[in-house]
Order: sequence, then structure tokens, then C-alpha cells
Amino acid sequence: MKLFDRLQESNYEQLVFCQDEVSGLKAIICIHDTTLGPALGGLRMWNYQSDEDAIEDVLRLAKGMTYKAAVAGLNLGGGKAVIIGDSRKDKSEALFRMFGRYVEGLNGRYITAEDVGTTESDMELIHLETSYVTGYSSASGSAGNPSPATAYGVYQGIRAAAQEAFGSASLEGKTIAVQGVGNVAFRLLGYLAKEGANLIVTDIHEEQVAKAVVEYGASSVAPDEIYDVDCDIYAPCALGAVINDKTIDRLKCKVVAGAANNQLHQPRHGELLQQKGILYVPDYVINAGGVIHVADELTGYNEDRVMQKVANIYDTVLNIFDIAKREGLTTHLAANHLAEERIAKMKHVRSRFNRNARHALNLEKNTR
Ligand code: NAD
Repeated sequence: MKLFDRLQESNYEQLVFCQDEVSGLKAIICIHDTTLGPALGGLRMWNYQSDEDAIEDVLRLAKGMTYKAAVAGLNLGGGKAVIIGDSRKDKSEALFRMFGRYVEGLNGRYITAEDVGTTESDMELIHLETSYVTGYSSASGSAGNPSPATAYGVYQGIRAAAQEAFGSASLEGKTIAVQGVGNVAFRLLGYLAKEGANLIVTDIHEEQVAKAVVEYGASSVAPDEIYDVDCDIYAPCALGAVINDKTIDRLKCKVVAGAANNQLHQPRHGELLQQKGILYVPDYVINAGGVIHVADELTGYNEDRVMQKVANIYDTVLNIFDIAKREGLTTHLAANHLAEERIAKMKHVRSRFNRNARHALNLEKNTR
């Protein structure tokens, strides 16, 4: 498809190509939608096979951020950036500072953050050139690791799903299979264990599994066996695309609810889950704790406020189940519907007494 047709298809606002020979920077910044506020989204560094792959990735991820922020109730739009390069070999001070200059050039329309292939110290370098960055070190005034907020949100989303599927939000006695015991899942296991859930875990790293077994009395299975276990809730907390043609018929759970991004290999897998009577909590809704944490940093971080907002994920998830039932949609499409509706309504709100309209008529010199 031609690039402008692709942009028009999902109404992308802006795609910025950043090139600098001296620093070796080849980056793309995508601003999908700024109706609700500046576009927030992480910076991914990846050795893309082709420029087309990089463009497609940044477009897909930026749009995903618009929906995530909208459903989380944040006053932020969706954006994303990619640097084309090998994160193990191609990083340098000049590269990230030059990227920071491009971000600064967008004057706050895009705010960057950590993502796959970038770290807190990369954000530190970007921060030397722009203030439109989050997730630099806590020593420099940033709020630090978002995983605790993400884990708390996933816990709340699981409780909401239990309420819907089993008639009670209590997880006592429920068997929960957790795939991956990383930053988010280890904290999640703490909440689940405290409620008296039976935990089954897996990870490709033995030491991670051992930690969960010792700390939370979990039992463990081999990585590929997690799809087959008898459980009430399956919580994918490792990789994307785990709900696919190969795994879907193996699942014996009643609920899929976990932290991993892009759990459905394709949207049709959401329909297949529904047909099998499995309740799916849309990934970008349940794992929004991280972006809520990052967004709060922009206005002066307050942990209590963040955790209160993250707790709302419980109500948001229940709301999505209601929309799905009312509109006859899969839960994933119901979440999209909620996002699109909020953006459309806020667009309408902002059209009233529009300051820019007055400015356009030159009736007012300063618009803000
Ligand atoms: P992490 O890297 O700390 O943990 C992932 C864990 O999964 C690791 O322990 C890894 O060994 C394990 N793993 C990898 N492949 C596996 C496999 N095939 N089978 C079993 N285990 C496997 O990552 P994280 O920060 O805990 O994030 C987990 C997921 O949640 C990711 O998909 C991430 O994109 C998503 N997410 C995280 C956040 C956050 O705040 N950290 C926010 C939103 C979404």
C-alpha cells in the first residue's frame, strides 16, 4: 500500500523521518492522534530488515498507544518512535542526543520513553536535549520502574474478570497459570498469593521459576506446557501472539488476563476465544498501569495518585464487558469502541469555543 494511503487509513497525523550521518541516526517518529493530548509512546531500537518494516512497526505501535491512553482515561495521545539499529552495537551518546534534538523539534507534540532495546541511561542522554522524555533515572527526578504499577493493574483486571466469569472478584482457591516470571509477573504473583490463589508458573529461565516456587509456593511446568494446564485463569506475562492457531484449542481456562502486549496473534483469535466461552481481558486495557505511571511523571509523580488511577482498571474492565454484551462485540473490539468514543467526544468538546478559531480570525494574539 502507498504510504499516504496507509496514513489516511487510520488517520495518522504525522510521520517524521530523522536522519543524521555523523551520529548514524536513522529514526522514525510517528504521531497518531493528539486529540486528547501530546502523543506519548516509547522509543524502540531494533535492527529492522527493511525501512518498510520499521515504518509498519512504528505506525502499528503508535496507534496502539492512542487506544491505550484513551481507555486509561489519560489526557494523552498516541505516538511511538523507532531507531533503526542494533541495540547491542550501535548505541552512542551522539545517537541518543541527536534523537533528543528531533523530539525537541516537535515542541512537545511527542513525548518519548523507554521501550524494547532502550534503557534508562539512553533516556538520560535524550533528556540532555529535551524535556519531552520520561523514564530517565530516579536520581534525575524520574519516577523509576513502571512494573509495580503494571502488576497492580493486571491484578485489578484479573479480579474484574473473576467477577464477570465466576460471580465473585475473590481469587481465593482459583487456579491461575502465569506465563513468564519477569518484572511484572513476579509482583503480580505476590498479589495473587496473598489472596490464596493456586499458582502455576513457567519461565524459560529456571531461576525465575525457582523464585516463584520458593517465595509463593507456586508449582511449575515447562514453558510449552502452560497452554495445557487445567486452570481458571491464564495470565500471559511474557510474549505477544500467544493466542494463536496452535495454542487456542489447548487452553482449558475460563479467562485470559495478563500483562503481555499483543496477546492475540490476529483479531480473529479474539472471536475464537469468545466462541470457546473464554473471557478475554484486552491486553492494552489490563496492562495500562505502566503508562499511567509514566504519564503521572509529566505532572509531578505521586505514587498514591498513580495507584488510585491504576485501581480504576477494575471498573474499566467491567465497563468493557458491558459494552461487549450490549453491542455484541468481542471484548477487544469493545475496548476499541470505548477508546474511539472517548476521542470523538473530546474532539467535540474541544470544538466548542475553539481558541484556535478565534486566533485564525486574528481576533486574539495569544492562543494559550
Ligand atoms: P520481563 O522481561 O521482565 O519478563 C518477561 C519474562 O518472560 C522473563 O522472565 C522471560 O524469561 C520470560 N519469558 C520469555 N519467553 C518466555 C517463554 N517462551 N515462556 C515463558 N517465559 C518466557 O518483562 P516485563 O516487564 O515483566 O513485561 C512482561 C510483559 O508485559 C511483556 O510482554 C511486556 O511488553 C508487557 N508489559 C510490561 C509493562 C511494564 O511495565 N513492565 C507494561 C505494559 C506491558
